[in-house]
Amino acid sequence: MSFDQLASELVSRKRADLYRERRVLESPQQPEVVVDGKAYLAFCSNDYLGLANHPDLIRAFQQAADEYGVGGGASHLVSGHSFHHHALEEELADFTGRPRALLFSNGYMANMGTVNALVGKQDAVFEDRLNHASLLDAGLLSGARFQRYLHNSPESLAQKLEKTEARRKLVVTDGVFSMDGDVADMPAICHTAKVNDAWVMVDDAHGFGCIGATGAGVAEHYGLSVDDLPVLMGTLGKAFGTSGAFVAGSETLIETLIQQARTYIYTTSMPPAVAAATRASLKLVIAEQWRRELLKSLIQRFRDGCQQLGLTLMDSPTPIQPILIGDSAKAMTMSAALREQGIFITAIRPPTVPQGSARLRVTLSAAHSEAQVDRLLDALERVK
Ligand SMILES: *Cc1c(COP(=O)(O)O)cnc(C)c1O
Repeated sequence: MSFDQLASELVSRKRADLYRERRVLESPQQPEVVVDGKAYLAFCSNDYLGLANHPDLIRAFQQAADEYGVGGGASHLVSGHSFHHHALEEELADFTGRPRALLFSNGYMANMGTVNALVGKQDAVFEDRLNHASLLDAGLLSGARFQRYLHNSPESLAQKLEKTEARRKLVVTDGVFSMDGDVADMPAICHTAKVNDAWVMVDDAHGFGCIGATGAGVAEHYGLSVDDLPVLMGTLGKAFGTSGAFVAGSETLIETLIQQARTYIYTTSMPPAVAAATRASLKLVIAEQWRRELLKSLIQRFRDGCQQLGLTLMDSPTPIQPILIGDSAKAMTMSAALREQGIFITAIRPPTVPQGSARLRVTLSAAHSEAQVDRLLDALERVK
């Protein structure tokens, strides 16, 4: 069997302006980057608090590598659950106000493992239609009856929940939607779930570190306890600047995941030094409130500037500030024109976002300065 068919699919993808290409980053993740040999001012990382290249994290990582080596060497249930993993789990439980937390290698695996440990064939899973791909994949793989409700609509969710006769019901939503930047109406979603005897799981990949009084994310932002919001998932590769993910919740939830979550059981633990660096990161997230405050003022500055330029933004109070373009080819042209101006922003196209809603996904970081945001606004004025 030849690959001709695949090759022609690649060609049609290219023609439709949907072809994806990787560029090589030749610097740390920070506002001033070098990509394919050229210097840019970048607005597309998820390093929202500017911690990915922070000296405290680097030092903690180096020191732990000296003490514990590089590889985790085994899965958590065999002999790969090391001192820093265990300490980080306890600190994350404390930080999120949950009895327990469990580390996963990344967010995709945390979602896959958790949803599949909680629901199966006799059950039903309810997902926001704009949920992250990893949540949609997790729900589909589980074999539970899979239903999507309208974006951020507790009413649409209620209609679906009222009709179901499934054994267990799991409602799953992004906390902050990854391609739009809006925040889920968690109090209403949790209430709707509770009155319909369903569990709620939130994926707070983009809220964790950024929102809430101490950066503990949507649960803290809305004051939702473990009873209101039983399954809290967060990732460590975005605002926390490292890598990995966790699920926090009750003793019973975490013990169930340890016994049942296949993406927890059948994989090597993350390098212990990554856990150590994340412990350093957590200290900064808690101590350096100024990072969230600076971010807030940069977001306002950017939104005000875009409004003056007549650009269409989404209803987002978070560092995710997409500029809606619509047509994929136009989004690609604008992204290329911005690169000519020394600004690096990626165009996000279908199928990552719905047809006809291609966008320039601008993300801001506490590592950006006001002057850099102004430079972005100047460049946007020239290319729009
Ligand atoms: C990035 C992201 C993930 C995946 O997390 P990784 O740790 O990068 O695998 C999951 N959910 C959402 C909403 C995300 O944005």
